Amino acid sequence: MSQNKKNIELDIVWFKRDLRILDNKSLEFVSKSGNQTLFVYIFEPSVIDSPDCDKRHIRFIHESIIDIQKRFKKFSIDIKCVNCEAIEFFEEISKTYKIKNVLSYQEIGNNLTYNRDKKIAQFFRTKNINWIQNKTNGIIRGLKSRKNWKKKWMDEMKSEIVVTDLDSINKQKVKIPSKIKLFNSKHEFDKNFQPGGESYAWMYIKSFQKSRHIGYTKNISRPYESRISCSRLSPYITYGNLSSKQVYQFFNKSSKNRDIRNFLSRLQWRCHFMQKFDDEPSMEFKNINRAYDSIRLNHDENLLKKWRDGSTGIPIIDACMRCLDKTGYLNFRMRAMIVSFAAFNLWQDWKYFSHHLAKKFLDYEPGIHYSQIQMQSAVTGINTVRIYNPVKNSTDLDPKGDFIKKWVSELESIPSEYIHEPWKMTKIEQKMYNFYLKEDYPYPIIDIETSRKKALEEIWKIRKSPKSKINATKILEKHVNK
Ligand SMILES: Cc1cc2nc3c(=O)[nH]c(=O)nc-3n(C[C@H](O)[C@H](O)[C@H](O)COP(=O)(O)OP(=O)(O)OC[C@H]3O[C@@H](n4cnc5c(N)ncnc54)[C@H](O)[C@@H]3O)c2cc1C
Repeated sequence: MSQNKKNIELDIVWFKRDLRILDNKSLEFVSKSGNQTLFVYIFEPSVIDSPDCDKRHIRFIHESIIDIQKRFKKFSIDIKCVNCEAIEFFEEISKTYKIKNVLSYQEIGNNLTYNRDKKIAQFFRTKNINWIQNKTNGIIRGLKSRKNWKKKWMDEMKSEIVVTDLDSINKQKVKIPSKIKLFNSKHEFDKNFQPGGESYAWMYIKSFQKSRHIGYTKNISRPYESRISCSRLSPYITYGNLSSKQVYQFFNKSSKNRDIRNFLSRLQWRCHFMQKFDDEPSMEFKNINRAYDSIRLNHDENLLKKWRDGSTGIPIIDACMRCLDKTGYLNFRMRAMIVSFAAFNLWQDWKYFSHHLAKKFLDYEPGIHYSQIQMQSAVTGINTVRIYNPVKNSTDLDPKGDFIKKWVSELESIPSEYIHEPWKMTKIEQKMYNFYLKEDYPYPIIDIETSRKKALEEIWKIRKSPKSKINATKILEKHVNK
């Protein structure tokens, strides 16, 4: 260990879900501190191996870093990617350098990252390291009450966007101790997924503002058209290529437009759900309303496998599951519908399928994910019980079956009148179209109508119970904005 280095005061910018240069308070801080600075992203094996993480998320993060790196290079600064646990990283660095400040954004992550941060905070305290964690997207840590939350959120959205002069950052290179493993994964671009990075985020935001927003409201639930008419900003906000504030301010001036207004209201929902999760993180593991613990006790892996694989025999469900697997994206309605199918028709507990969906959604954000999954499974006791009929949704939102045919190629040749319910084809019709049920495409694994009725009965039995009602009052008291 070099004595000289131990005397060097080092700032560390720890990138997490704030993978951007613009509106980044950590960068702003080090541009003013003048201290030697290490910029780092820590690829933690425990996070990579966790059941809600997928290669697609790591690729998106990696792409975001490559984008930052390109722009940093012009200012002779760089970002290091290391492959170890965060605590190991900081312990090792602190053996060599005197860490003064660590800058990052508060992470509204899962239980794993929350506990990691608690451990890190403890370590920093013992070493007298100042950890400055900036607020993420207006979410308030340790919130006691939702009183005035909307106003506070709005104040945050209207506050000034930080633009850092990267040239004023101390350019002295920081050498990583050799004991720390670098992250050396080769980047493989996959054209089926939205690419990560601030540059792409701006391409998406600008094209949405220019023309794609036209038809946003009309197409928002249509599985095919929404892929263009929706903003597709979610992964960029999830990984912080854009802050909510940047998105809000970019569109606020055009908020007289109905489509833009509807879009902007969803930005607030986003933060509302994340605030809810931050206030009640146990919802990653438990029903928010414990009265619902006594239902859905039969875990049927066979049924869930068919759902995961997109071979339920219900075309719109299968198209959604296959499309999600290949592209990482579905619009809100289709997400709600696949959850509704698993939770009501298949009568499976959300805890058995939430990780699968988390892995598949490119924009996976624990705060929205668990809140939505619990809502759509009707285990909150406060939201309207919605059981989406897949055939009705398919007929209304994909009338010609374009989306179905794209993803379920077995159904390409059958006429549109049967595309939503191929099981209604007679034997003669099957012969006419050279398409045979069971051989070419399965019969439905469940009767939609019978399972719907049964699920509704079971849910309402609990919903009417005193326990559910008492819990619902407490949930409303805690999580509804006042
Ligand atoms: C079961 C389920 C799981 C979900 N999981 C996630 C998730 O992990 N990450 C995620 O970002 N969204 C999630 N959503 C919400 C929503 O489906 C996506 O945000 C939206 O489809 C993303 O597409 P977009 O960016 O084109 O949205 P747009 O319609 O263009 O909306 C703009 C932005 O508002 C936010 N937003 C939109 N709808 C919602 C909503 N209903 N709730 C909260 N925020 C919203 C997103 O940040 C989105 O990027 C989930 C919904 C369901 C039903």
